[in-house]
Amino acid sequence: MISIKNVNKSFGTHHVLTDISLEVPKSNVIALIGPSGAGKSTLIRTINALEPIDSGEIIVNGISIHDKKTNINKARTNIGFVFQSFNLYPFLSVLDNVTISPIKVKKQSKEQAEKRAVELLTSLGLGDKVHAFPGRLSGGQQQRVAIARALAMDPEVMLFDEPTSALDPEMVKEVLDAIRKLAHEGMTMVVVTHEMGFAKEICDEIVFMAEGKIVEVAPPSEFFSNPKTERAQNFLKAVL
Ligand code: ADP
Ligand code: MG
Repeated sequence: MISIKNVNKSFGTHHVLTDISLEVPKSNVIALIGPSGAGKSTLIRTINALEPIDSGEIIVNGISIHDKKTNINKARTNIGFVFQSFNLYPFLSVLDNVTISPIKVKKQSKEQAEKRAVELLTSLGLGDKVHAFPGRLSGGQQQRVAIARALAMDPEVMLFDEPTSALDPEMVKEVLDAIRKLAHEGMTMVVVTHEMGFAKEICDEIVFMAEGKIVEVAPPSEFFSNPKTERAQNFLKAVL
């Protein structure tokens, strides 16, 4: 579903992604972990071309994302992105936040978009918040609205960049539960996370990055019990 081939990227003279290659099969969930500054956010942002790349290729569901001939806005409708800072529209209700893109970009009717939005919000435990404004919601509720907003476009792929890092501890679980549910439904996902227990539980593969390189790729059972590289061993010692 996602194929990343020999991707390189620099910011000026700073080489932040070095020859990154990674395959994510359909319905797989990948955790991208590693120290701060490793290039995790940059990498996940290249998957929907929020960051351009200098060389290499990224293909999502058959579409070459960085090809000049690709209609990137159309390709992006297939890729949901959830950020650390929820980025909801503060002056729109929860319902309008979730329906704006389906109506504007996918040309759905208001009724059709609202029906789906209410379904999604209800499934995420927000059935009673449909008419609320984001400022009245907790961080965990706002992040679940952000997830509903991404899902409303019916994406084939969901990308999460530290979706729980801005949340108070008591709200982390409700957001992780929402992501876990998507995993069980077979959504293809890449999740940048510091929640090691979560990564261990739901991910098919752990991708450990440091200094712009993929250092180790392994199933969680292997990665957490028997990391092969010294870099990963030291990282795990520091975070577990
Ligand atoms: P991570 O998400 O793993 O913490 P990032 O992808 O955010 O790492 O950053 C990787 C490196 O790229 C860091 O050294 C960071 O300072 C640098 N970087 C990220 N974004 C930019 C940018 N827009 N301009 C210049 N340097 C950047
Ligand atoms: Mg980051």
